[in-house]
Amino acid sequence: MANNTLQVLLKRIKQIVGPENVSINKEDLETHAKDRSFHSPVFPDIVIWPKSTLQVSEIMKVANSTGIPVTAWGGGSSLEGNPIPVKGGVSLDMTKMNKVLKVLPDDLQVRVQPGIIGDALNKQLADYSLFFPAFPGSSFLATIGGMIANNAGGMYAVKYGVVGDWVLSLEIVLANGDIIRTGNRSFKSVSGYDLKRLFIGSEGTLGIITEAVLKLTAIPQKKFAVMVAFPSITDAAQTALLLLRSDIKPAAVEFMDTEYIRLVNLARNAKIPEKPNIIIELHGDEQIILRQLKVVIKTCEEKNGKVYKKFISEEENRQLWNLRRPPRDVLPKILPNTGVLSAEIGLPLSKVEDFLIKASELGKKFEVQTIMFGHIGDGNFHGWALYEQNNEKSWKKVTKLNELLVTFAIQAGGTTTGEHGVGIGKRKFMPIEHPTSIDIMKNIKEMLDPKGILNPGKLLPGK
Ligand SMILES: Cc1cc2nc3c(=O)[nH]c(=O)nc-3n(C[C@H](O)[C@H](O)[C@H](O)COP(=O)(O)OP(=O)(O)OC[C@H]3O[C@@H](n4cnc5c(N)ncnc54)[C@H](O)[C@@H]3O)c2cc1C
Repeated sequence: MANNTLQVLLKRIKQIVGPENVSINKEDLETHAKDRSFHSPVFPDIVIWPKSTLQVSEIMKVANSTGIPVTAWGGGSSLEGNPIPVKGGVSLDMTKMNKVLKVLPDDLQVRVQPGIIGDALNKQLADYSLFFPAFPGSSFLATIGGMIANNAGGMYAVKYGVVGDWVLSLEIVLANGDIIRTGNRSFKSVSGYDLKRLFIGSEGTLGIITEAVLKLTAIPQKKFAVMVAFPSITDAAQTALLLLRSDIKPAAVEFMDTEYIRLVNLARNAKIPEKPNIIIELHGDEQIILRQLKVVIKTCEEKNGKVYKKFISEEENRQLWNLRRPPRDVLPKILPNTGVLSAEIGLPLSKVEDFLIKASELGKKFEVQTIMFGHIGDGNFHGWALYEQNNEKSWKKVTKLNELLVTFAIQAGGTTTGEHGVGIGKRKFMPIEHPTSIDIMKNIKEMLDPKGILNPGKLLPGK
């Protein structure tokens, strides 16, 4: 941005939010240049921390009239470059709008501002024996606004669905500064087009979320889980499917391949059998889930599974999810100069086994080390492909591998992204996944943001 334009903008924005809520310091620009993905950082020109919906509206009016890009920022924990301001301009940091506005326990609802961190919200809701169940694994750093904008999903999506399933209404500031509300506080509504759904998962490209009403549920009485090792990927995948087709409704069914387990053992000093493993977690009344756990274990054993450990107490449950936490930290220590292309897709359940076999075959063919894990219970898979840093040939191999696996997922009736969003990395697949509806998406973007100022360079190819 030209210096004189920046100075004019700075002056105007300071009048709106106060000088303490604007920054052009290198440190602040750097913090807002990069998420947790492998995508390259791009610095914004200015960081703004609004404190109210009206301030967001005023900021958008200024940006729209001057054509300055605005990219919303939550916790910056995205994995596809979603909040990286690739065209510069404003990084709109929403973390100072972080209040719980009202808990409505009799309605099983809460009204929140978008900047509140997931775990902080659940901590406050615990006083009412309620919780928001659809948080991603990053709920310790991700904000509600970022989760809604990415339509994040977590380990418990099998039982509870994803973040968007729990959003009842939204307040949104549009590109031109208009403030709209969409949705309502009834659990059921068929009144008109579901515009709320349009904004869920739109990655900040259609509007800025300034408030949300979320549905809640009771905290389960108990959580019991088991981790089981299988001799092969096939046994693990088939057992997961068997359990999902039974009348047991697990809260989580997670998969980790042998390589992932090897890294977990190194990173967390654990001794899990180095084989494909699945985790099954059950929520509910103690007696009921104890009975179900026995059935789960019997089903696993009949498919050659060997129980590694049962996780019954709260402390053991914490240990379990600490073991499952991606062991990225250990990679630079054991494999220096190694980069990780982190990928993710969604599949129909019946295609999971084929996908895992395909990934393993392609890894061997391309001589690329792959590490597969993910939410097998809802067909959402994650993979890391390792490459040699600063080696163009090695990078090309992993990107080609990624392309083939994403294409496999689309052809299998799945999707390029089950939870991380399109961001930068998946844009090129959008016309392939949506050949008959991509133009409607482009028209919606054009209508709501004709100047293309909201998170440009994301989600849709072209703008
Ligand atoms: C360790 C780790 C584990 C993870 N586990 C999961 C997981 O289990 N499941 C999962 O789905 N993801 C996971 N993620 C990815 C990421 O945490 C989620 O996508 C999360 O929802 C991003 O939230 P955020 O607040 O960090 O948003 P950001 O990364 O800051 O932004 C996300 C997107 O939302 C937009 N945005 C932010 N706030 C607003 C707003 N108020 N209005 C409009 N647009 C906005 C941004 O412009 C951007 O496009 C994980 C990431 C990490 C680092």
